Amino acid sequence: MDDCIFCKIVKGEIPSIKIYEDKHVFAFMDINPVSEGHALVIPKIHVENLWKIPEATLSAVHSASKTIVHAMTMAMGPVSVAAVQLNGRGVNQVVMHYHLHLIPRASDGEALKLTAWEMIPGDMDAINRTGAAIAAAIEND
Ligand SMILES: [Zn+2]
Repeated sequence: MDDCIFCKIVKGEIPSIKIYEDKHVFAFMDINPVSEGHALVIPKIHVENLWKIPEATLSAVHSASKTIVHAMTMAMGPVSVAAVQLNGRGVNQVVMHYHLHLIPRASDGEALKLTAWEMIPGDMDAINRTGAAIAAAIEND
């Protein structure tokens, strides 16, 4: 897509701090990092989100993420790495080109806010109702 910032990064029209590239995948450092080492893994083809990405492309992106996290572990020694992926403006996807965030947490780092939500038991009746509605919609699709 002509006006897509990530397509321009893949083509080298916008500079990026590249950390990995293969036939289908490009990965680079996030310049607005949540933590030190925050990287983005994207497909080279323009595809908006998880619901539209071809299976083979999805597989390539996630396989590459394993290579990158292995390297991240060797280079930085994080305690853990969150893989976060947003789909749609309603959940704050900013660039409408599929991207997987790899967000490491350093051993002495603060807990990642997005993974540190409080565990509060839900309303079981509501959970059962919603689960049944989703399962029924899958059956009827
Ligand atoms: Zn794009």
